Amino acid sequence: MTDAKMPLRAKVATSVSRTAAALSRAAGRGDGSVIGGWIGLKIDPDLLAHLSTGRAIALVSGTNGKTTTTRLTAAAVGVLGRVATNSFGANMPTGHTSALAKAGSTPYAVLEVDEHYLAQVLEATEPHVVALLNLSRDQLDRAKEVAMMAQLWRAALVQHPDVRVVANADDPMVVWAATPPADPARGHFPPHVSWFSAGQRWHDDSWVCPECGSTIARKNDQWWCTGCALRRPEPQWTVEDDGVLDPTGAWHKIQLQLPGKVNLGNAATALAVAAEFGVRPVDAVSRLGTVTSVAGRYAQVDRDGRNIRLLLAKNPASWLEAFDMADEAPTLLSINARDPDGLDTSWLFDVDFAPLRGRQVLITGDRAYDLAVRLDVNGVPFQHVRTFDDAIRAVPPGRLEVIANYTAFQDIRAELDRVN
Ligand SMILES: [Zn+2]
Repeated sequence: MTDAKMPLRAKVATSVSRTAAALSRAAGRGDGSVIGGWIGLKIDPDLLAHLSTGRAIALVSGTNGKTTTTRLTAAAVGVLGRVATNSFGANMPTGHTSALAKAGSTPYAVLEVDEHYLAQVLEATEPHVVALLNLSRDQLDRAKEVAMMAQLWRAALVQHPDVRVVANADDPMVVWAATPPADPARGHFPPHVSWFSAGQRWHDDSWVCPECGSTIARKNDQWWCTGCALRRPEPQWTVEDDGVLDPTGAWHKIQLQLPGKVNLGNAATALAVAAEFGVRPVDAVSRLGTVTSVAGRYAQVDRDGRNIRLLLAKNPASWLEAFDMADEAPTLLSINARDPDGLDTSWLFDVDFAPLRGRQVLITGDRAYDLAVRLDVNGVPFQHVRTFDDAIRAVPPGRLEVIANYTAFQDIRAELDRVN
């Protein structure tokens, strides 16, 4: 909706929201997107809906990869015109409200959505397309069961039969969520789904069929339920070598500034979402290469002859992805268990650290000793360091990969910022 057509309350709320965000930034309190959105929604509870009207919107949700995929998708959709996006990862309605208010009138928006809020944000924004990436366990002491989340997504999609869905064919929970049964008598039809294959390294949350409770069997890329008809759909978008195959069978070379096969999967997803707006992959691929570090993730910093690269890993699935992205180089692991990380570190035993064997491994962080026990059991030699500086001195010049969970990642970023 353009400013002129918005109700007065929404106009005031938008303006106050922008001001509050600017004040918060000026005071050095982050980017202000949460406080700005929070105040705007207090004044006009329907502000997110008002700000969404007249924009073609894509939502991106899932446990992992949503910040990066949102950035790549915004870049791809940018072929068509200006795109509003919550690029700082503020992925709840306050963050969406603030991002749209700050962007002003744009024809497009690409919003990262926390998986718990998908139903609410679908309702408020009436998007054109929603991308469903994956579902796996997150912080153990607060996350809803994965199957329950799939159920919530499925129920939300039933309420929005017109939304186009772009979904990961490799994740049984996502496939089940994206394919609610049709009930024509009640006006429910299956959603239009475009399937992509982004791989699934982490299988431990999808051994049991969400439909019938039987075992999920797997062979090569395929998976199927041993008790009912649920099985992997044929994807229209797939990663092949260092490129993406589109639904016409055309192959596009992808040159990203982001590491790992995981990010090629994210690029395939971004192209699939952009295609729902009419963007041709051939026009979008070069833009994907403009995305560099995402909220500090993958950032590279040179210090004392070491090229330090930061990888964030916040749950078991993303640890496996980080091992895939990291070069065969000295690697520092840092684990905290503060409130934003989740207080329970028993998930360390869900992750197989064996891929790190043969690399120089250093550990640090509040819960380095929990990590030490895990690595010992896993047969991965390591060295404990007290500080990040000690870690740098302990490795030879060249690449140092740093894999850290949430607050540990923030600590290391802050330390690097102080020096640079
Ligand atoms: Zn089944």
